[in-house]
Amino acid sequence: MATFGTLSTRLTESLKNLRGKGKLSPADVDGTLREIRRAMLDADVSLNVVKKFTSDVRERALSDEVNKALNPAQQVVQIVNEELVTILGGAQRRLEFAKKPPTIIMLAGLQGAGKTTLAGKLAKYLAKDKHTPLLVACDLQRPNAVQQLEVVGKNAGVAVYSPEPGNGVGDPVKVAKDSIKFANDKQYDVVIIDTAGRLGVDAELMKQAADIRKATSPDEVLFVIDAMIGQDAVATAQAFQEGVDFTGVVLTKLDGDARGGAALSVVSETQRPIMFASTGENLDDFEPFYPDRMASRILD
Ligand code: GDP
Repeated sequence: MATFGTLSTRLTESLKNLRGKGKLSPADVDGTLREIRRAMLDADVSLNVVKKFTSDVRERALSDEVNKALNPAQQVVQIVNEELVTILGGAQRRLEFAKKPPTIIMLAGLQGAGKTTLAGKLAKYLAKDKHTPLLVACDLQRPNAVQQLEVVGKNAGVAVYSPEPGNGVGDPVKVAKDSIKFANDKQYDVVIIDTAGRLGVDAELMKQAADIRKATSPDEVLFVIDAMIGQDAVATAQAFQEGVDFTGVVLTKLDGDARGGAALSVVSETQRPIMFASTGENLDDFEPFYPDRMASRILD
């Protein structure tokens, strides 16, 4: 994945200086941490997260854990790796399914983040796993959003619930509620609700998303965020956390040359895991997000 390319190269460079050293002095460790700090800031990791990360790594790098190691530099690489995995959310988190179907998954995020595309990807992914998903068109704001979801549904081979024409017409909260009754009647076991987004965080649409959340009690609320968003990531994520209290994050456009730092910051600042990664415009460009794999990639 190209996303963490920049961060990866810089981290690798800074860690290289430690390789081959028999014993590490505080100066060795601090020199490396300075480089890591610069690399992370350049990659749009927020200052808060960089500070916490480097201070956690420093404490461990100067402890007996490293001093007593056979190869101290290797041990520091290991520590950086472990701390990255921790920041990225630890173990991979899977979707929570409802004990009694349907499982309700609500999507929220800024316009253009890739929600509608993701709805199709997630539906296809679940359908392959023997689920019967129903896509629900609750983005009644953006022109043609309903139509776009219908196309996505057709391409994914899954059903779409879209009783309203959209384009500013219709009540999204009612559509969401009715869709669950519809799913119950027709025995769809997963309901994926696509909601409206604006270019910036918008009080009215956030309230609408919060109302949909309240009316449907979703098992998962996934915050969809474009990996290219950069330093705005944290403020945007915090606004959505306050508005819809999301349970997980989906990182989109990881195929672009985004600075991967936004991902680290969002997870660290909201304490919500990244669950999926979207890596292109096609419905199959989608995979579960593995924190350990991503951390290893950073250090490759
Ligand atoms: P929404 O407004 O949040 O529903 O966003 P859309 O699903 O309409 O996506 C906005 C644009 O981003 C569309 O042109 C998508 O094809 C594109 N897109 C979505 N996900 C990805 C991705 O992972 N990679 C790339 N390169 N493009 C994506």
